[in-house]
Amino acid sequence: MNKLIFVSGGVCSSLGKGVAASALGALLESRGFNVRMVKCDPYINVDAGTMSPYQHGEVYVTDDGAETDLDLGNYARFTSGPLSQANSITTGQVYNEVIRKEREGGYLGRCVQVIPHITDEIKARIMAVAKEDADTDITIVEIGGTVGDIESIPFLEAARQLIHEYGKSSAISVHLTLIPEVGDGELKTKPTQHSVKAMQEQGIQPDVLICRAPVILDEATRRKIALFTNMESTAVFTSYNVHTTIYEIPLMFHEQKLDQVVLKKLGVEARHAKIEPWKAVMERATSRKEKVRIGIVGKYMELHDAYKSVYESLFHAGLECAVDVELVKIDSSRLDEAESADHILGKDAPDGGIDGVLVPGGFGQRGIKGMVRAAAWARSNKIPYFGICLGMQIMVIDWARNVLGWEDADSTEFNQNTKKPVVSLLEEQVGVKNYGGTMRLGKYVSAAKPGTKFFAAYGQENVCERHRHRYEFSNQYREEIAGSGLIISGVYPKEDLVECVEWPDHPWGLAVQFHPEFKSKPTAASPLFRDFIAIARNAKG
Ligand code: GLN
Repeated sequence: MNKLIFVSGGVCSSLGKGVAASALGALLESRGFNVRMVKCDPYINVDAGTMSPYQHGEVYVTDDGAETDLDLGNYARFTSGPLSQANSITTGQVYNEVIRKEREGGYLGRCVQVIPHITDEIKARIMAVAKEDADTDITIVEIGGTVGDIESIPFLEAARQLIHEYGKSSAISVHLTLIPEVGDGELKTKPTQHSVKAMQEQGIQPDVLICRAPVILDEATRRKIALFTNMESTAVFTSYNVHTTIYEIPLMFHEQKLDQVVLKKLGVEARHAKIEPWKAVMERATSRKEKVRIGIVGKYMELHDAYKSVYESLFHAGLECAVDVELVKIDSSRLDEAESADHILGKDAPDGGIDGVLVPGGFGQRGIKGMVRAAAWARSNKIPYFGICLGMQIMVIDWARNVLGWEDADSTEFNQNTKKPVVSLLEEQVGVKNYGGTMRLGKYVSAAKPGTKFFAAYGQENVCERHRHRYEFSNQYREEIAGSGLIISGVYPKEDLVECVEWPDHPWGLAVQFHPEFKSKPTAASPLFRDFIAIARNAKG
């Protein structure tokens, strides 16, 4: 079929364009179409790997080791098509490639310009995804940023050209805007009118409008918007604020018939929609009664997006275990100096304490002491503990310092001169100067040891998960550490690297060097998150 949908945004950022594009993808999949998702990011970074989580949120990692924008995580949670480096296009990548070709003399003496050379490269990359698999029916291309931004112009121009080349019945524009509320709940359509004008200035007439608004827009408002924007009122939809979960959005759009209108505009007959899995997610979300409080002890606590996939995975696990997982975000540097960890984590805490500790990924030295303290607290109080990447390195450091008594034990990331570098760089990482794309990235297999909690979670020996780290458990100390009781339950066989450790005599203290959060879905929680939440719930009684 090979149809294209371009999703753009206007008025302001953070309207939920990624989730809207993903929800549309989910609905089209529910009607039996093969959907692919592409994200165009107008920034000049080659990828998201070098960006601070504070500025840009989480870096999402694909099987092939691409470090991408967090929207790919939304695509992965809502849709099922494959995602790889090809699905994430940035200005940096596009210019890199065009400049490389120019240096090779690939443009045969011509002057290299934004149009057509940059736009051609963007189009080629979009088409590479759309045409990669002959079975692909519809490719949804989300264009990052806001219409009117200087950076996004080449991407919108590439979209305009493709819509023109494909013809209106094979490629359409879906535009997301904001309807703000002023005074006494009065909804204002003017910013949306201007946003559509800005699209028209780029040569694109939106076919479908999704308006972010506090409540569903009435017929009169939709008609008014339609009148000012050259559209039909039936093509104006509302994305209103949801309270329980973003997984309600596919159902919200379906009720308004967004999927039917989109398919009609693409000239495709709508097949029966199987939206039961999304209904089941909502039923589970609304029927949870019990609550577990999970303390996330990390560094990037101020910005929700910095640990986006971790928070989503906890929610998925809660759905599967029929509990409401309350996220208790604890900046680990608060624990650095606290008189007692109990005052922050335990029953003495003003908020009543937590039922489980999760130490997520992170980089750099700040707040490490507090994380080690949280691990030691969970270990000695037999509170469920789940360490992810840095969280596994922390578990190893706590064991070395507090069980083996190696006071100075550390990772060389935090202390170059430690006498016991229990976490250190692999030989191949030692001389690395170029930070972009040089970590241990993407899919690796771990061999789970039968009889361990790790094996029990997955129910099989071969576990494929994704990595993003430079440092590793030092094999130099493996014998001594394992000899003292720490269970090594998962290993990457090819290079004999430790991938999973567990506490003995503990309800559930487990940590992994990889990031299971990247593969968790609302319809199928990550096995490790699921077991962690199940144990935290049961331990609570
Ligand atoms: N900073 C650690 C490393 O590079 C952990 C990385 C992470 O948690 N993603 O190995």
